[in-house]
Amino acid sequence: MWTPRPSRQETAPTAGLALEFSDLLGCWDRPLAHALSPHLGTDQAILTCSGTAALMIALRCLAGESHRHQVVLPAYTCPLLVRAVAAAGLVIRLCDNRPGHFEMDPQVLKTLCGPDTLAVIPAHLGGRLADMTQVTAITHDCGATVIEDAAQALGARHADGTAAGLAGDIGFVSMAAGKGLSIYEGGLLMSRDASRLQALRAVAGTVPRFSLWEARRMLELIGYALFYRPGGLRMAYGRPLRRALRKGDLVNAVGDQFGAKIPLHRVSRWREAVGVSAAERLSALLKFQRKQARERLPSLRAIPGITVLDDVDRGQGTWPLFMLVMTCQADRDAALSRVWHRGLGVSRMFIHALPDYDYLRDVVPREATPRASDFAARTLTISNSPWLSDADFGQILQVLQHPR
Ligand SMILES: *Cc1c(COP(=O)(O)O)cnc(C)c1O
Repeated sequence: MWTPRPSRQETAPTAGLALEFSDLLGCWDRPLAHALSPHLGTDQAILTCSGTAALMIALRCLAGESHRHQVVLPAYTCPLLVRAVAAAGLVIRLCDNRPGHFEMDPQVLKTLCGPDTLAVIPAHLGGRLADMTQVTAITHDCGATVIEDAAQALGARHADGTAAGLAGDIGFVSMAAGKGLSIYEGGLLMSRDASRLQALRAVAGTVPRFSLWEARRMLELIGYALFYRPGGLRMAYGRPLRRALRKGDLVNAVGDQFGAKIPLHRVSRWREAVGVSAAERLSALLKFQRKQARERLPSLRAIPGITVLDDVDRGQGTWPLFMLVMTCQADRDAALSRVWHRGLGVSRMFIHALPDYDYLRDVVPREATPRASDFAARTLTISNSPWLSDADFGQILQVLQHPR
């Protein structure tokens, strides 16, 4: 499965778990939450139709128990969170990062938390774990709830051994295309607290059982099995990417454009069974990624002017990709202009800080979050896919050494 990528093929921007055709027959003997329990630290997770849907359910549940209205998001995070908070009829507050990182600045968070704060949503990005200890203390001080966004960190563990997603009061992971294990769209919602879990389950139970969305997702999952491989990605990912880049449409180049409507429906038993079948290979993939990350990190770190985000005292993250912060935007842009289109798995995560998306202007507060904007301007990602050969990785290193 992990043969080096032949030339003229495409590397995915993140190292997702590729499906094998036999997965499409499904493995029907247990729920997906059970199959993933070694990674989630619980077998009680609730299967949802997306990570965003999991968050929607969590927010509905909290809003039903409280008169508080505000939800604090990191200023650099997935735009889907904005959609979920808005759809739940709640008010978004943005917390700026600490410098050179995607994490919320605890000092800023303190000023945002108050008697109207319902929830705070720290996120782990690209498998790198954000601090939960300080965020939790500040959030609990004001009587609010921590929702841990582990969408990009399925299989990561905090320093005390707690699984990512289980360290907050509520947590969720995503199984969208390209994120670790994928059933094309899916999520898992969890909590350590049994009564909280029961409340979440009650809200999840109100989600419609049948939907045309599910029929569409089933077809998309077959497409994913067909195209999420080095040959297929050229057509399914590379071509639209290069078209968007030619047009200068960076938001669509990374798939950051999300509509206001968030589908809410049940996941079919078939898609769940496909996930169970693929889940057997997740440990091996995560292990391979850690090994390849250990091998490749030193040469990235040796390049002057580049910081690679890592797990400093943070436990064991996952390594779907490397997140690099460069000294200035000009270098980052110069490097990207030379490699982004080349199928080598170099990309950007979220294009902007949340206030900087034109299309979200009506829903995102105009709070100044200069450090999040700066982080967006200096960051790039490199896939840690098994399909990215040493030779290709070497080409990326060369560009990074002399971006201009
Ligand atoms: C993808 C993502 C989500 C949403 O998950 P979906 O399954 O795509 O709805 C939430 N947060 C972060 C950080 C993400 O990357």
